Amino acid sequence: MATTVAGTQSTDRLQSALNKLADSVRGRLIRASDPGYEEARHVYNANIDRRPLAVLECANTADVIAGVNVAREEGLSLSIRGGGHNVAGFGTNDGGLVLDLAPIRNVHVNPGRKLAYAGGGATWGDVDHAAWPFGLATPGGIISTTGIGGLGLGGGFGHLTRRFGLVVDNIRAADVVTADGRLVHASADENPDLFWALRGGGGNFGVVTGMQLALHEVPTVYGGPIFYPASACGQVLRFFRDFMADAPRELGAFFGFHIAPPAPFVPEHLHGHTACAIVVAWTGPLEQAEAVIKPIREAGPVALDLAGPLPYPALNSLFDALLPKGLQHYWKSDFVTELSDEAIAVHEEHGPQVPTFQSLMHIYPLDGAVHDVAPDATAFRSRDVKFTHIIAGIDPERENMTARREWVRDYWTALHPYSAPGGYVNFLMEEGDDRIKASYKENYPRLQAIKRAWDPGNLFRMNQNIPPAAS
Ligand SMILES: Cc1cc2nc3c(=O)[nH]c(=O)nc-3n(C[C@H](O)[C@H](O)[C@H](O)COP(=O)(O)OP(=O)(O)OC[C@H]3O[C@@H](n4cnc5c(N)ncnc54)[C@H](O)[C@@H]3O)c2cc1C
Repeated sequence: MATTVAGTQSTDRLQSALNKLADSVRGRLIRASDPGYEEARHVYNANIDRRPLAVLECANTADVIAGVNVAREEGLSLSIRGGGHNVAGFGTNDGGLVLDLAPIRNVHVNPGRKLAYAGGGATWGDVDHAAWPFGLATPGGIISTTGIGGLGLGGGFGHLTRRFGLVVDNIRAADVVTADGRLVHASADENPDLFWALRGGGGNFGVVTGMQLALHEVPTVYGGPIFYPASACGQVLRFFRDFMADAPRELGAFFGFHIAPPAPFVPEHLHGHTACAIVVAWTGPLEQAEAVIKPIREAGPVALDLAGPLPYPALNSLFDALLPKGLQHYWKSDFVTELSDEAIAVHEEHGPQVPTFQSLMHIYPLDGAVHDVAPDATAFRSRDVKFTHIIAGIDPERENMTARREWVRDYWTALHPYSAPGGYVNFLMEEGDDRIKASYKENYPRLQAIKRAWDPGNLFRMNQNIPPAAS
């Protein structure tokens, strides 16, 4: 097709805007012809294959503002990338601009006030590392390479959640670059509507360049996985459900199906065997740990017991090496109000068919401190569910993904009738507006109204999108 004069002019204008951007920022603007583009365009999930026009590695807030302004003025799709772990691949796009916040990752700890200020591109490993010398920690994800930006703004749970709540319950304030290129502060006292929406509304409302997080005293923890043969999974899962209902909040624990990998910490005779596991994290007094965990050790015939005392950052990075960047992912998930015997029967049928070393099914409790917060106190609404599960088909090879998807879909379809409506937004792939609405439930109209106030043009739409309310 012949290039029109108007087409050439708009291409020239765009190139000129990108050239100016490259010259004005302290970070690097990486375009398709630049070295490093292949690495820069990819996110954690290698199944996502998109080609943005440019990736801006933001060195500071000024770079973020410059990037937001260019995307808005030039009508470009805009992705915000924190840790890059979102499996739907919102951290990259086709033909648009990516703001990679990874260089903005400094974490400053005020041990006296038990607060951390973390850059918007920090990971949970960065937060753990900075807080641990003071015996402090805050709830974060169970894989330490995940970003605080995506995980934290979508809700965020991990080993410490039953005791200290979701990440959103621990965010005290945030600095945000808005769609019109301003930097604003959001807290309970300043821009409270924006602050409310950020705590569960994901990247819909602006680019968070830094957030203040509450820290808690977390001394040496007693944690790690306890494995049982998959044949015992029904018994172990029923135990897990009943035990967690009354377990002290100092006990974090999740249930999972896995294939034992050929890792140095797994005895050779177990390599390749399918197992179920309860991963424990006791943060109460260390001398009570063995007694609290004893029933878990008696829940079934233990195949391998790796639980013991360890520093919290070690527990929180225990599984990092099993899930590096560059694997292919396909996920499906749901919230669960009651883990019924019928649902457990579905798990008994499908869980032991977990297909690869990396694939998994996990059930995380969302109770304890999560239930202390009112459903309308933050944008994260689902304070009445007890668990969320995730079924993840993960494989190094793209050509195996048809089979991996099939396992995930069959499992999820069988389980879905026993699940609660909606799903955790951070576990959703691109599953349509109804799933997003169902996740936010009664909070959705307020989120739409706040979106209209802060991003009426829906610049921030590469996410589980909440479109602005109509006028
Ligand atoms: C291996 C693995 C383990 C996980 N474990 C857990 C877990 O234990 N608990 C849990 O709750 N979730 C967990 N998740 C899900 C996780 O919460 C989501 O994948 C989340 O989107 C990852 O955030 P990120 O910053 O790494 O991703 P990114 O892809 O960088 O970001 C995802 C989206 O979040 C928004 N965003 C990110 N940073 C910012 C920012 N600074 N400002 C504004 N918006 C931003 C953007 O919309 C962006 O597209 C896990 C995911 C993976 C892959």
